[in-house]
Amino acid sequence: MIEIVNLTKSFGSSEVIRGVDLSVKQGEVLVIIGPSGSGKSTLLRCINVLEIPTGGRLTVGGSSLEFQERRKPKPSQLLEIRRKTGMVFQAYHLFPHRTVLQNVMEGPVTVQKKKKGEARAAAMTLLQKVGLEQKADSYPHSLSGGQQQRVSIARAMAMDPDVLLFDEPTSALDPELVGEVLKVIKQLAVEGMTMVIVTHEMKFAREVADRVILLADGVIVEEGPPEQLFSRPKHERTVQFLSLTY
Ligand code: ATP
Ligand code: MG
Repeated sequence: MIEIVNLTKSFGSSEVIRGVDLSVKQGEVLVIIGPSGSGKSTLLRCINVLEIPTGGRLTVGGSSLEFQERRKPKPSQLLEIRRKTGMVFQAYHLFPHRTVLQNVMEGPVTVQKKKKGEARAAAMTLLQKVGLEQKADSYPHSLSGGQQQRVSIARAMAMDPDVLLFDEPTSALDPELVGEVLKVIKQLAVEGMTMVIVTHEMKFAREVADRVILLADGVIVEEGPPEQLFSRPKHERTVQFLSLTY
């Protein structure tokens, strides 16, 4: 579903992603952990080409792009990849002047040119899935952070992506609201959604991940199934990171 080969990303003279090889299978849940500044968000943003990699090759859902320092990909090529992904950010970027339902319908209607009735019915099904069908006509500001984040997930799902990308989806939430968002993500995992999740929630990572990678200084230091990586890490860098976060 995702294939990354020797991916690099530099900002000016600093190389933030330094040759990452990674593949994610259909239906797999990959969790990325690692210290602050290690490049987790940058790597995630490279997968949906919100950041354009400076080198390497990226394939998402059958669309491939090869990157070179001085050759910018065409916007149409970037769009093709971006449309295969859905992104859920730390702070839910909902449109404040649109209702919950309108937020979820927006992409399908304006981007995918779906008929309104069809988009509405699909949006309601998704709102039901995230447990918010009764909030369809509410405005984002009247929702809790956890509810807003669940709307963001429904909105990303509405575009029918091949892959969902999450960048610390719970880190802006009050602790008591974290659980309801994790529950939705877990349910998507059970349903076979392919997901890449950057998180600091180690307990959640352990529960939901099929595979975990530890990113440090822009390289993958260790990867493995969660029970191995958390209980029997092989690398000193991983031991060190886990001892700081537990
Ligand atoms: P955190 O856990 O704090 O979110 P992270 O692992 O997500 O950290 P990134 O946000 O990917 O880290 O940043 C990796 C490095 O790249 C940092 O040193 C950051 O300052 C730098 N960086 C990220 N985005 C840019 C940018 N647009 N321009 C310049 N430098 C950037
Ligand atoms: Mg980050």
